[in-house]
Amino acid sequence: MRIRSIRARLTLWYTSLLTVTFLLLGGTAYGLLVYNLSHDSDSALKGVAQILAQQTPRGSTTFFRPDIDDVFRRFFGFSPFDRYFEMRDPFGRRDPRWPRPSSGKLPLSPAALKNASDGRPTFETIEGMGQYPVRVLTFPIVRAGRVVNLIQVGMSLESMYMTRHRFLLIMAAMLPLSLLLAGGGGWILAHRALKPVDRMTDAARRISAEHLAERLGETGTQDELDRLAKTLNEMLGRLDAAFSQIRQFSADASHELQTPLTILKGELEVALRSPRSPDEYQRILKSALEEIDRIAHLVEGLLLLARADAGVLRMDRQPVDLAQLVEEVYGQTKVLADTHALTLDLGLVEPISIQGDYERLRRLLLNLVDNGIKYTPTGGHVTLSVQRDGGWVSLQVSDTGIGLSGEDQERIFQRFYRAVEARSHGESGAGLGLCIARSIAEAHGGRIEVESTTGQGSTFTVLLPLNS
Ligand code: ADP
Repeated sequence: MRIRSIRARLTLWYTSLLTVTFLLLGGTAYGLLVYNLSHDSDSALKGVAQILAQQTPRGSTTFFRPDIDDVFRRFFGFSPFDRYFEMRDPFGRRDPRWPRPSSGKLPLSPAALKNASDGRPTFETIEGMGQYPVRVLTFPIVRAGRVVNLIQVGMSLESMYMTRHRFLLIMAAMLPLSLLLAGGGGWILAHRALKPVDRMTDAARRISAEHLAERLGETGTQDELDRLAKTLNEMLGRLDAAFSQIRQFSADASHELQTPLTILKGELEVALRSPRSPDEYQRILKSALEEIDRIAHLVEGLLLLARADAGVLRMDRQPVDLAQLVEEVYGQTKVLADTHALTLDLGLVEPISIQGDYERLRRLLLNLVDNGIKYTPTGGHVTLSVQRDGGWVSLQVSDTGIGLSGEDQERIFQRFYRAVEARSHGESGAGLGLCIARSIAEAHGGRIEVESTTGQGSTFTVLLPLNS
């Protein structure tokens, strides 16, 4: 089963890790406890055996039970558990003259007898002597290099088993308790840590295309979640700007299309109201055609921009003679300049050829020259030139026109933007020409720049890469 909530997953991980840690620690502690208990009881048995061996005088046959009990007591305290003692001769036979505690007889294994004959003590754990095993030490008493007696001391392992048992009981009781605490703590921690995520989810749910101005709450703590909120807010900001731009674009585009359509409709309605002479019909139809041309031009521009936005603006890659292009545009716009009583000049025209789309570049240059003519008062100059500039070609259109303020220079490449001076100058235009020019320049790997001073004129420079 896949757990969907991060909170539950975190808690589960946390609890599992803690369980493993608990079991590892508990296991190690239990191992150490068992080792220490065994080690202590063996040392105590050895101590008992050594003292009894020292207290056994050579050839003595009298060793009273109270003495033995006393020695055991010194090492094991007043514990009520069974103790064992046997005195044997070097052959392992029990000496019946020695008292034995009431607990019972101790067996002597062949291995212990063999070790004792060699002068070595032997520890053994013997089962079956009662409810609990008995730990037995067979200890040789050596005098002058000869084994004279064997002492056997034994101790029931009951106390050790009970201690181990108690430890396991405590561990078993602690495990669920600590797991419960860890699980609860983990859940609360995860809940607290993920609370901002819940808040972000709620806020994000509220944000739709209509409410893009809303933002996620930032805590200012600079932690991961705060950074995430910041990043999402920045993204929302960009989305908001993009959406506003699209909305503005749609509104502007409809407005620009509506004006010529309204004029067209009006003209046709007036024409139909009463019978007219052929000359009048011709004039009305001519004017209608002009409006249709404007609409077609606008739609063509919008289509070009939409394609550029979608990255599907098709560009030819043919050799384009820029000098020829400049001269052709000059020829086409000369008449227009004359009607505006302006001088259209050809500046430096170097014979340069690049790879590109002739028609699109012609449209770009026409837009710039058309603007130069539109925004230059009577008597002014508009100059066209083309020249090499390092690895670039510089196509320039300069005029002595109304110029642009610094703020306008930054905005004129936006769609439908028209400077206030341009509007008051009474020139028609949709504010798409420069935007289209920039798209064409960029599609050729180039860019477009403007330098201008209000009231003195502007220079638009198109830089295109020479080896494109
Ligand atoms: P349009 O000329 O149709 O308004 P453009 O995109 O070609 O649209 O130009 C955008 C705006 O930039 C113009 O409205 C005008 O304010 C400004 N502009 C463009 N060319 C010039 C120029 N040569 N001199 C002064 N202002 C200009």
